[in-house]
Amino acid sequence: MSNKFDVIVIGGGPGGYVAAIRAAQLGLKAACIEKWLDKDNKPRLGGTCLNVGCIPSKALLDSSHKYHDATEEFKVHGIGVEGVSMDVNAMVDRKDNIVNQLTGGIAGLFKANGVTSFEGFGKLLANKKVEFTAHDGSVETLEADNVILATGSVPVNIPPAPRTGDIIVDNEGALDFREVPKRLGVIGAGVIGLELGSVWKRLGSEVVVLEAQDQFLSLCDQDLAKEAAKIFKKQGLDIRVGARVTGSEVKGEEVEVTFLDAKGEEQKQTFDKLIVAVGRKPFTDGCLAGDSGVNLDERGFVFVDEQCATNVPGVFAIGDIVRGPMLAHKASEEGVMVADIIAGHKAQMNYDCVPSVIYTHPELAWVGKNEQQLKAEGAKFKVGKFPFAASGRAMAANDTDGFVKIIADEETDRILGCHIIGGHAADLIAQAVIAMEFGSTAEDIALTVFAHPTVSEAVHEAALAVDGHAIHIANRKRK
Ligand code: FAD
Ligand code: AMP
Repeated sequence: MSNKFDVIVIGGGPGGYVAAIRAAQLGLKAACIEKWLDKDNKPRLGGTCLNVGCIPSKALLDSSHKYHDATEEFKVHGIGVEGVSMDVNAMVDRKDNIVNQLTGGIAGLFKANGVTSFEGFGKLLANKKVEFTAHDGSVETLEADNVILATGSVPVNIPPAPRTGDIIVDNEGALDFREVPKRLGVIGAGVIGLELGSVWKRLGSEVVVLEAQDQFLSLCDQDLAKEAAKIFKKQGLDIRVGARVTGSEVKGEEVEVTFLDAKGEEQKQTFDKLIVAVGRKPFTDGCLAGDSGVNLDERGFVFVDEQCATNVPGVFAIGDIVRGPMLAHKASEEGVMVADIIAGHKAQMNYDCVPSVIYTHPELAWVGKNEQQLKAEGAKFKVGKFPFAASGRAMAANDTDGFVKIIADEETDRILGCHIIGGHAADLIAQAVIAMEFGSTAEDIALTVFAHPTVSEAVHEAALAVDGHAIHIANRKRK
């Protein structure tokens, strides 16, 4: 086999594997190098997303949600269940099976599309040569016309809470608890901290989330953040903002965490497990030879332009190692864009229309700009909101927390952002994403026919509310 390729992708996560498949579909000779080994030392494709991120976390969220339904929700519908129990091992094994199936599926897709898979470590050398070190230690040099760097990200460690592997864990460890911790501490009230905290809270842990920032979920629309804080409190998640962790000490089977509270006073709290979820950082360790010529920015991200080209011609970088949100779908779309460009097509990605989701219950999902960003820009805009409490379908499902909020330009009516908190927010947001992608106005959505009864009618009603014409709520008087 020749070791010369049209495209070599380093990293087989959702950025890299999608780029490799797309390149092969477009007739390019494509290869993908992936270093991941599972607990049994078997090579695995799929990266963070499939192995220890999006998919396994959602598997546990779905299992724990069903348990919560059985213990708390069924009785509302008149369903009596007795002796409900949770077999945590079975839940975690189910999650592992899903991961096995999906990662194996990527290997199948590589075969079907003719992508050459290299199992081991890739390092970019000068002149688009790539050094490949297989898991058995053998080394060969590959050549390519184009290289795509897609080496992803790893969890940030903080000195006050170094991982111990059993008691102090990162997201990976938190997906593998084999029993429900009685007292669970979570450092960081970001997406990962809230999702994993929710899983274990539903299964019975007392969960305390320590968040250094004073503002809860500062990254999202503050209407959503306030609603979420209220609901999570009702669910029993103890979220302490302004709480900066300064130290931790493992004492036998537990860990004592020291933190400065919102008043700056030192507090101590003891947990059986501690999840450190303080963010992720780009991973490029050992991936770039000194003379590869690829520039990083001051935060360690690979420096790229709008079309993911690095400063070295023919070398691209995508996903978590480049600027922008660390999201699987953002990585994948960049992979598609870059493969298209390499194949000689015109391609670009609309970074204004990348949705974000937090998969708690209710879910939080948003796209475009939020109210505080628009106010800071001095933009003139109008807001339409519709609560799920007024949705017949949400009522039928006993899932009435939250609302849809649509923000439109005051003059042109063009949709600038959509922010949803509710049971199906992750799926509903796609409607707003499509609308924004097509440059729709709020009126375009208002004039669209939505099936009844569906929770998506709340999107319709929020669009109607933008101009004070919602039907199923009393509209705010407009000036
Ligand atoms: P990665 O998925 O990190 O893949 C990079 C791959 O490159 C890895 O497999 C790594 O082994 C490999 N690699 C690195 N260096 C080399 C090398 N030199 N040679 C060979 N291989 C190499 N995002 C969402 O959109 N939705 C979610 O619901 C979501 N949930 C998440 C939950 C958790 C707990 C976590 C941790 C993350 C979650 N994310 C979610 C984020 C998402 O997983 C990442 O944004 C996504 O995986 C980034 O894709 P990537 O291809 O850039 O990198
Ligand atoms: P995210 O980047 O969305 O995963 O969120 C990580 C969160 O962890 C951020 O909101 C940080 O403010 C928070 N964080 C970082 N360091 C600490 C710390 N020492 N104590 C408490 N929270 C922290």
